[in-house]
Amino acid sequence: KFISFEGGEGTGKSTQIKRLAGKLRGLGIDVVETREPGGTKGAEIVRRTILSGRVEALGPFAEALLVNAARDDHLNEVIRPALKAGKWVLCDRFADSTRAYQGTLGGIDRRLLEAFETAVIGDDWPDLTLILDLDPHIGLERARAVTRAENGGPGGDRFEDVDLESHRKLRDAFLAIARREPERCVVIDASESIDAVGAAIWTAVADRIAL
Ligand code: C5P
Repeated sequence: KFISFEGGEGTGKSTQIKRLAGKLRGLGIDVVETREPGGTKGAEIVRRTILSGRVEALGPFAEALLVNAARDDHLNEVIRPALKAGKWVLCDRFADSTRAYQGTLGGIDRRLLEAFETAVIGDDWPDLTLILDLDPHIGLERARAVTRAENGGPGGDRFEDVDLESHRKLRDAFLAIARREPERCVVIDASESIDAVGAAIWTAVADRIAL
């Protein structure tokens, strides 16, 4: 089974992926935790290029190509082999992040992104996409607190200082995807405690996927 986690900064995706992975492993399920952009040697190079902001020298079109090239490698090297071996794959961000970041924010045409999706993903869409939804004002505060605790000072990726308006657009983009594809997507209220969000995720997984 293939589950992707989507949502803005500070929504707790990585914390919840770890929790869900632990719970599934407790049931004897083999789980692969991975992320995008990234998950392979080559795709992690793309991740660094994007997070450092260096890709901005080329612009949104190159960025859209790069994230899709990274996804192709990630699918071929990690995700498809794991699924074939009967493992569960939990992926931190996937194609919906491309739609939100490169599409909604970057202005790349939706039809072009759909063509990439067809070419790169084919039929290998996640069985379930969990969209962790949170007011970006709260999410950014959370993300900043974590970055400060980890690095002993301010830091973070290139979107940390971007205006709240962009983060609101990202949130709306994810919610619009969930409305368009209710059979794949479940929106999770990420404003609750870690335990409560974990419980909502577990309910969604148990509802949508035969364990
Ligand atoms: O929150 P996370 O660690 O997943 O952050 C990854 C970052 O990579 C995002 O905050 C965003 O700045 C960037 N990204 C992007 N385009 C994507 C996926 C992620 O710009 N398709």
